[in-house]
Amino acid sequence: MMKQSVILNNGAKMPIVGLGTWRGGEGKVAEAVKQAISAGYRHIDGAYVYQNEEEVGAGIHAMIDQGVVKREELFVVSKLWSTFHIPSLVRKACEKTLSDLKLDYMDLYLMHLPMGMKPGEEIFPLDEDGQVYSDDSSFLDTWEAMEELVDAGLIKAIGVSNFNRDQIEAILNKPGLKHKPANNQIECHPYLTQEKLIPYCHSRGISVTAFSPLGSPDRPWATADEPSLLEDPKIKAIANKYKKTTAQVLIRFHMERNVVVIPKSSNPERIKQNFQVFDFELNEEEMKTLLSFNRNFRLFSFNWGTTHKDFPMHAEY
Ligand code: NDP
Repeated sequence: MMKQSVILNNGAKMPIVGLGTWRGGEGKVAEAVKQAISAGYRHIDGAYVYQNEEEVGAGIHAMIDQGVVKREELFVVSKLWSTFHIPSLVRKACEKTLSDLKLDYMDLYLMHLPMGMKPGEEIFPLDEDGQVYSDDSSFLDTWEAMEELVDAGLIKAIGVSNFNRDQIEAILNKPGLKHKPANNQIECHPYLTQEKLIPYCHSRGISVTAFSPLGSPDRPWATADEPSLLEDPKIKAIANKYKKTTAQVLIRFHMERNVVVIPKSSNPERIKQNFQVFDFELNEEEMKTLLSFNRNFRLFSFNWGTTHKDFPMHAEY
């Protein structure tokens, strides 16, 4: 039996493959969630900022109502958006997500970014230079407000996303820390292998989730001349050996490292395909080969945040 989940530091099991829901396409996300649950997925990755949580919730509830799955068999993840970092805003933001999802708890709630942004209507409050307006919050205070969500029973585990090593250390060393981060969700794929941050997180008992595992080809700022993971002939060659697709190898790559992975698709065939990754393994040599493709290539460089005090990517890792 192949590994189906990783164990979090709160004792919960997090399914190792989940469905990503960013840019699911209006009217398509509920269907994608339904297809995924029918195909065997038990982990759904969402976020307030994707602006589709009502649809995600509708997909989940359709499957619960049809008796396909029970709530307690699902692992539902969402993320606190950066304009809600001021501690007094955190609980309301969480409750909004829960009410959109029509759930009374979430399995994991992540701080989407370490960078707090000016509260208000605008999701991305940018100045005339295209840099984000920060708030004056400290992510340590935001973390304390998230700890209260666990104590109130709204959230089973809390974690972070796009945090670097020092930022995680700052949370772990916070006086009076009540709940350690259970997960750090970061960009990871063979062109950005994260060979320092992943072992660091694991050494601290923090699981890692890889986002954009397929190279996020659909993201609005993709350029024609960037390297393509899905079309890389060397990755394709490994896939051919196992009669698998390149996407399946890109997903399996994380599972071999004990890293959770959340490919997004709104296409029923690809949703199924992306879950057919439990019947083959990549050997050590193939993993070495895939790791050798690292070029520290970030699909998400967050360059609207480079002047923010908590910009995570000035550090080496
Ligand atoms: P992915 O790397 O998952 O790529 C998704 C794209 O690949 C879509 O265009 C999809 O098209 C296509 N695709 C999916 N499966 C296949 C396949 N088998 N063969 C060929 N093409 C395929 O990108 P994302 O950026 O969406 O990352 C995944 C998830 O990670 C997000 O949806 C989100 O949940 C999370 N995320 C988190 C971030 C964070 O800051 N924490 C940042 C970015 C993402 P189609 O739908 O048509 O199949």
